[in-house]
Amino acid sequence: MKRLLVAMLALTAVPLALAVQAETAKEAEKPLPRVFDLKAIDHSVAPCSDFYQYACGAWLKANPVPPDQSDWWRFSELDEHIRKVLASILDDAAAGKDAKTENRRKLGDYYASCLDEAAIEGKGLKPFTPELKHIAALTDKHDLAAEIARLHLIGAAPMFSFSSTPDYTDAAMMIASADQDGFALPDRDYYVTDDYKTERAGYQLHLARMFQLLGDGPKQAKAEADAALRVETALAKAAMSVVERREPKNVHHKMKLEEFVMLAPSFDWTTYLAGLGAPTFASLDVADPGFFKGLETSLNAFSLDDWKAYLRWTFIDAFLSAAPRAFVDADFGFFGKQLDGQEEMEARWKRCVDATDDQLGDALGQAYVERAFSPEAKQRVLGMMHQIANAMEADIKSLTWMSDNTKARALEKLANVSFKVGYPDEWLDYSKLEIVRGDAFGNIARASEFDVRQDHAKIGKPVDRDEWGMTASTDNSYYDEQLNAIYFPAGILQPPNFDMVAGDAENYGNLASLIGHELTHGFDDEGRHYDAKGNLIDWWSKEDAAAFDERAAGLVREYDAFVAVKGRHGRSKDVYVDGELTLGENTADNGGVRLAYEAFMTTQGSKAGAEAHGYTPEQRFFLSYAQGWCENHTEEAAREDAKTDEHAPGKYRVNGVLVNLEAFRKAFACKPGTPMATAKINRVW
Ligand SMILES: [Zn+2]
Repeated sequence: MKRLLVAMLALTAVPLALAVQAETAKEAEKPLPRVFDLKAIDHSVAPCSDFYQYACGAWLKANPVPPDQSDWWRFSELDEHIRKVLASILDDAAAGKDAKTENRRKLGDYYASCLDEAAIEGKGLKPFTPELKHIAALTDKHDLAAEIARLHLIGAAPMFSFSSTPDYTDAAMMIASADQDGFALPDRDYYVTDDYKTERAGYQLHLARMFQLLGDGPKQAKAEADAALRVETALAKAAMSVVERREPKNVHHKMKLEEFVMLAPSFDWTTYLAGLGAPTFASLDVADPGFFKGLETSLNAFSLDDWKAYLRWTFIDAFLSAAPRAFVDADFGFFGKQLDGQEEMEARWKRCVDATDDQLGDALGQAYVERAFSPEAKQRVLGMMHQIANAMEADIKSLTWMSDNTKARALEKLANVSFKVGYPDEWLDYSKLEIVRGDAFGNIARASEFDVRQDHAKIGKPVDRDEWGMTASTDNSYYDEQLNAIYFPAGILQPPNFDMVAGDAENYGNLASLIGHELTHGFDDEGRHYDAKGNLIDWWSKEDAAAFDERAAGLVREYDAFVAVKGRHGRSKDVYVDGELTLGENTADNGGVRLAYEAFMTTQGSKAGAEAHGYTPEQRFFLSYAQGWCENHTEEAAREDAKTDEHAPGKYRVNGVLVNLEAFRKAFACKPGTPMATAKINRVW
């Protein structure tokens, strides 16, 4: 499982805006926001009373959520810039203007096919018909296995997921993995608790609408929607919650294939695995055995017609960008508007850039890096990573609550972290993937199958340590506990996160804090269970683990008290941050800034001591950190995030962290008892 810096955005489908295409190249030249932005500051608020509001207040006012988004934050500014650069690369590729390589041809053809709404509309449901007929022709529940294999290969996600993963008992090898999946609402609670009654009713109407668009009469469509929802609800009930899944021992169970089969014997696993064409294997990692027991119950409980309705829906859901406009509109009406509070769909070109990045990520990433990333930036960032690791080494050595034995293991783990910057050393070879201009549906299906087969081929092989889980243009970063490595793609290494011409205070306040964040993930409540090699092994003494838990509990209590969404009088209750759900990220945020500050103190920029724009280097460090998290969102998105996002809202990624830092209090001379200088200081790392 990968630990992201920020939640990945859900993709929503969108209409064509041809006019925008012509402008993309030009707009991409606009300067990016600065790492430290004086104009963002709200001088009407004292830094010691609400530092987030002080650092971000003017920005928050000037940057409301645009109608085609459900949130707008500093990452969005860079995201939009990156999408314009990618669109300009793809426009050139589609016009045959740049390098005449086979990869560029594929990029151009994939993108142009996605953009061509007229052709998609003209074909209507024709591309969907063969698979829909296949589903309709099933005569026995026993046949479900072969159909699920077909759907999994082309990128749909019914019932469960099957993939390859590093073996948690021997992280150098890849094994097969089976996990919960197959329900579309954001979390299992959406199906089962009263809090989400309205969303559930909206979803039911949405499903009925989709079945009507597939050509079924209103009565039949309603019955199918009810059936699909029954199936999804049963799958969701058998699944673990996001919080339960944060505990590593809950999501790793190695078992023999025969044992796994016995969890859901009514499913024809032999046919399923043969249908996938995956390499044979004797044992696998079953993330969630309880889920597969639940699947067995569902297989017996629901009729073949119930399952068929459910499969029709999961199939169409996976191919929306190749579906007629009415499907796209309906999808946005529920997932975009009702669930996320977004007013308008994103322009089609944005959706198609995302789809191309998703399916041809290495081809697009390679073109992006050629255009937008310098070897100097890579060297500079690698240097910062080593400084942050040195700061962590000093920190671990100085801990008073950890025994020498556990410290030695922690230091061994730290010394083994790999630093990945920019892009993979080797790009994926797409020569076997066929992309055809004008065949949007076929392109999605073939690219998905290429990806799935690529993934399954790894089963039983050594782990490829050069492979990345994010594309090079991504404005995000992650720590992988099974590879014990941190990843910073080229996309994130730009203003406002990092700037080759900015000072140390600015770059350490922002990017170095993010590097410290990812490094700390290796030692948070989840990451600490994995050793230097990425194996799930308990290397902590009982006493040290108890001391860790006590410190972590302090952070849980701190964040549990924060309000994520203010209730509206008489209409809704306050929604609180979930301290358990966000514990790993909050631990990483707190550790990250502390490490970055310690590394910053060794730089020339901190010693210069000079004020700039009226701020000391220390003050600019903290302002640059805080401004990375300025964030506006719709109320709906904030509610959904509070339930499902492992990251706390921007306000608490700033205030929740800085109240715990003496250096911050000193930098802004916060008097004891002011809101930013509370009596209690929480510290895990
Ligand atoms: Zn994180």
